[in-house]
Amino acid sequence: MFQSLQDKLNGAFRTLKGKDRITDINVAATTKEVRRALVDADVNFKIAKDITDRIRETAMDRKILISVEPGQMFVKIVQEELTRLMGSNSESISIKGDPAVILIAGLQGSGKTTFSGKLAAMLKKQGKQVMLAACDIYRPAAIDQLKVLGEQIGVEVYAEPENKNAVAIAQQAIAYARQNGKKIVIVDTAGRLAVDEAMMQEVEDIKKALNPSEILFVVDSMTGQDAVNTAKTFNERLNFDGVVLTKLDGDSRGGAALSIRQVVEKPIKFISTGEKMEALDLFHPDRMASRILG
Ligand code: GDP
Repeated sequence: MFQSLQDKLNGAFRTLKGKDRITDINVAATTKEVRRALVDADVNFKIAKDITDRIRETAMDRKILISVEPGQMFVKIVQEELTRLMGSNSESISIKGDPAVILIAGLQGSGKTTFSGKLAAMLKKQGKQVMLAACDIYRPAAIDQLKVLGEQIGVEVYAEPENKNAVAIAQQAIAYARQNGKKIVIVDTAGRLAVDEAMMQEVEDIKKALNPSEILFVVDSMTGQDAVNTAKTFNERLNFDGVVLTKLDGDSRGGAALSIRQVVEKPIKFISTGEKMEALDLFHPDRMASRILG
């Protein structure tokens, strides 16, 4: 497992014992430790460098404050900076329209279908009339998987297993929702193992046809640095509203959250921490900063 950044910094500051102030040299050595820790946590190298350059300035500004626990003080500065960079607050989703449409996009295996179920369960709990639409027409098990989840959480799933036109299915789902008093439709779309032109075109067409009030991009936190490139490609095509980071119950440090936020400038809105329907949380930048630092 990883050594915590706090331990590393305490080690780096050990030479400082007996001195009562921090010097340029101490700061240079410790910012290097911070940079290494960020890269270990899958933060993109350039982003890690930009962050640590800024942290170095802040630390020098606050050098006067440093007394007995310079390591802890340094960690606090880093923690504050990471939290600020990830947006400081949790962000909500936009639910507008009749019905409101929430479009879910991402690569196959990222956790789209599971997340669609979780979001439906969460909205239902809030008393919303919610429905799921199964528009993943390529993965044969996807429709069944969504139906099973729907049954489990007591949410209706609209599907047309024989229809191979995802846009048409999505449109029918909206019409069905209107006729049946459903106020929110969560549309689960198809994904491929890698970004693929046909898939991007299809999800773009669904977006045009449905005019969603919220588009969420789902990405597996375990994919590390690749997560950023995927996010960039999806954002260029879809201009999504927020990110869902999945599989944070695994041992990934979650640096993808920071890199994605910096590169695509969109907020992380939810984190998924397991296969169960309850394993969904709002994104809290301060908690993620602690996780990244270890
Ligand atoms: P999709 O292809 O994007 O729809 O992905 P799925 O929702 O089918 O998820 C792919 C696999 O990852 C399934 O086995 C899910 O049970 C699992 N999964 C999804 N989200 C999480 C999560 O947050 N943690 C863990 N451990 N597994 C997850």
